[in-house]
Amino acid sequence: MIEMERVDVAVVGGGPAGLAAAAAARTAGAGRVLLLERDTRLGGILNQCIHDGFGTKVFKEALTGPEYAALAIRRAHDAGVETRVDTTVLELDPNRTMTVISRNGMRRIEAGAVVLSMGCRERTRGAIGIAGSRPSGIYTAGAVQNYMNLRNILVGRRIVILGSGDIGLIMARRLALEGAEVACVAEILAYPSGLARNIVQCLDDFGIPLHLNTTVVEIHGTDRVAGVTLAEVGCKGGIRRRTRRRVECDTLMLSVGLVPENELSKRAGVVLDAVTRGPVVDDAYQTSVPGVFACGNVLQVHDLVDYASLEAEKAGTSAAAFARTGALPAARIRVLPGAGIRYVLPQRVTGGDAIDFTMRVSKPARDAALVFSSDGREIRRLQQQVLAPASMARVRLGRGRLEGLSEVMVEVAG
Ligand SMILES: Cc1cc2nc3c(=O)[nH]c(=O)nc-3n(C[C@H](O)[C@H](O)[C@H](O)COP(=O)(O)OP(=O)(O)OC[C@H]3O[C@@H](n4cnc5c(N)ncnc54)[C@H](O)[C@@H]3O)c2cc1C
Repeated sequence: MIEMERVDVAVVGGGPAGLAAAAAARTAGAGRVLLLERDTRLGGILNQCIHDGFGTKVFKEALTGPEYAALAIRRAHDAGVETRVDTTVLELDPNRTMTVISRNGMRRIEAGAVVLSMGCRERTRGAIGIAGSRPSGIYTAGAVQNYMNLRNILVGRRIVILGSGDIGLIMARRLALEGAEVACVAEILAYPSGLARNIVQCLDDFGIPLHLNTTVVEIHGTDRVAGVTLAEVGCKGGIRRRTRRRVECDTLMLSVGLVPENELSKRAGVVLDAVTRGPVVDDAYQTSVPGVFACGNVLQVHDLVDYASLEAEKAGTSAAAFARTGALPAARIRVLPGAGIRYVLPQRVTGGDAIDFTMRVSKPARDAALVFSSDGREIRRLQQQVLAPASMARVRLGRGRLEGLSEVMVEVAG
């Protein structure tokens, strides 16, 4: 017979988001809070991020990934969170019963509320479809980071990087520091996908060229990568044939985006947003399934870990409230992305308390404003010097600003 257990709040995933959500749920009064992590240790992706730059908002100092993780783990344990590693949640049903597997076998856990914080995974070669043979030497940036930082293995000597996401930029610097030659970074877009600070600190400072409007159109080599062909991309997305050029390398590293890990969410019937590919949530971070909350990279890919933790604290607090009361106020106001906005979160709000919105713009803009409006009436305008798709924009609307409305739209105004 499968063992059954009952907890007040269950948290799936022991990265910074899960740890912060679990600690907040306990602090908000939840009795038994259980955090489940499939890896052999807590901390999530931070364990392999040995560079610094984490923690300036939450811990008020610049920390490495493992240092941030250690502090977050301590906070969770001090708050009285029970943690189980080497434990994978296989299934979650809409009544918040989970099927969980560990070395001790299978068990069911019934939770008063569930927080989803499973993080995200990297897009691979298969997801972007590059022509050519299938030699060894093609890695995602996260895999290269794992090999170098956790296993001390240098994956190649001359590397081409496709995609200018932050993980790729950080790994360009790391590879250069370890004596590999980074031939170039190719980015299909007309602007970098990573943060400006990473372009300066990881590429410019190491003399690594960044080619914008450029992609890899072919991979060469039979046993091992022997080179790639790069080509420029025109404004309509077509390849400019005359610009094709071969670059010799033994490794192609892909940094072409992250996808939230939402298999569990889908099976539980959670409605996902077509753009973020994370759950649709309200201002309590509650998904479309009552009592199931989401935060961190499983909800939206964050630029900074501190914001993932702060978002998770709210989700954990809401989960504790749901576990206690069995319901939260209905969020009836729809929030829509308008011109220049790729997505905005939360997608539904109650309109009572102050609300923190997070969003990403579709393309870079200078001296533009983020404008909230309803039925043509402006509610809030925030002038911004720079807006870039790589950085999440954050706006707080004060208590009562949306009361009585049915819909609110956010857009970028010139
Ligand atoms: C290479 C890299 C560099 C970065 N650099 C910076 C930086 O300089 N500064 C900064 O602020 N931020 C940085 N970040 C971002 C930051 O690391 C993320 O925002 C943060 O880790 C997201 O936290 P999370 O808890 O949502 O996800 P994760 O850290 O990915 O944790 C998710 C956890 O869930 C577990 N899990 C998944 N599915 C299940 C399941 N079914 N059952 C049980 N457990 C499960 C996973 O094993 C994992 O441990 C970087 C990220 C990367 C990848």
